Amino acid sequence: MEEIKRLLLAEKAALLAEIRDKSSKKNKTNSDIGDAIDSSVEEQDRELDLLLQDREQSRLKGIENALQRMESDDFGYCDECGENISKKRLLAVPLTRMCINCQSNEERSRLAQNAFSRADYSSQVLSDE
Ligand SMILES: [Zn+2]
Repeated sequence: MEEIKRLLLAEKAALLAEIRDKSSKKNKTNSDIGDAIDSSVEEQDRELDLLLQDREQSRLKGIENALQRMESDDFGYCDECGENISKKRLLAVPLTRMCINCQSNEERSRLAQNAFSRADYSSQVLSDE
């Protein structure tokens, strides 16, 4: 798990550096971002939020979210089935919140719903009303 945490912290540092680079010299902040839990860093992050592009912002949020979950030992479990997500998968896509099974199930069911939107569902709905 340390390996993944390092990966996330490195990604966060790179992202913050990129953002800071873009937002010019206006934000001359201490670049010690090793301590992600430090409240002054959170303060900085909040200020930076205003300057971020949507994509970078959501990526950064995802990383912070993952780091927070890591702190509370809630990281690496599938949102769908609660199973452990494999380390291999986490290293490849650290921000994922679903195990490979649920992910592919979801993709399959999404495809299936597009393919057959038929009477199966409507009969259930009618019996409940
Ligand atoms: Zn799952």
